[in-house]
Amino acid sequence: MLSYLHAFHAGNFADVQKHAVLTLALSMMQAKPSAIACFDTHAGSAVYDLESERARKTAEADAGVQKLWASRNGLVSSDWQPVMQMLSRLNAGEGRLTVYPGSPAWIRQFLRPGDALTAFELHPAESGQLADWATEHGARVLHEDGLKGLLRRLPPSQPRLLTLIDPSYEIKSEYLDVADTLQKAWQKCRHGVYLIWYPVLTSHLQTALKQAVKDSSLRKVWCSEVHLRMPPERGMTGSGMLVVNPPWGFGDRFSAMIEDIAGDQALGISHECSWLIPE
Ligand code: SAM
Repeated sequence: MLSYLHAFHAGNFADVQKHAVLTLALSMMQAKPSAIACFDTHAGSAVYDLESERARKTAEADAGVQKLWASRNGLVSSDWQPVMQMLSRLNAGEGRLTVYPGSPAWIRQFLRPGDALTAFELHPAESGQLADWATEHGARVLHEDGLKGLLRRLPPSQPRLLTLIDPSYEIKSEYLDVADTLQKAWQKCRHGVYLIWYPVLTSHLQTALKQAVKDSSLRKVWCSEVHLRMPPERGMTGSGMLVVNPPWGFGDRFSAMIEDIAGDQALGISHECSWLIPE
């Protein structure tokens, strides 16, 4: 079942949290010169038109990245700078954003010579768009299952690893598949930084993933959840990220970023974070 299309959701509050985690992790990892292999297991199409029919149908970006963009002059944390630079580069004017980058484009922005990006995408049309984008941007695109594909390619030849696991969770078993893949990937590359996105749902399906990770042999798993202050009665009320092996000081720096945008005038979210599995 591949009915999910990220174009309906690109730039929403969950993307703001996920891509802030991603950019902060990459910039902190790049404090050291050794090369990084980056894997994006569920990549989407890399670039999204916020004026498209799909994006306007849900208007989710209006309550997400458009709010972030509108509050850009009041952001205190300097860790927003790479995010703002990327958004400015893709969008010409000072007004509303019309283009939003997906995770492969965010990762690509940080790649240095020697670093590498492998992006998996199973949806035929999304994968085709991603491959077109990649020919100009120097990423490897694989039209295959991202979880199995990741395991086949670990450990990487580069000395360090960053992996984003961002499924659409269309199938309930994906919560446990992600936990199982994470455990296997960690066994192949224990020092890797793994970023796992999950939805916070009124059905609490995400607790199966969190519990399975808690029950695993993983160490150093940090958890961030943002919750909508005005949540819907049913469905997604928040967004979560697990960060395995976060760089030292990551939690404080990420919390400072979210503090900048949490108020009702901005994204209207609250933030909770803690170690799911301690250091
Ligand atoms: N990571 C993207 C971003 O942040 O811009 C968004 C990804 S979207 C939430 C999930 C994507 O995973 C969809 O494009 C979907 O087609 C793709 N997908 C679903 N099942 C997959 C699988 N087994 N392997 C690889 N990609 C898959």
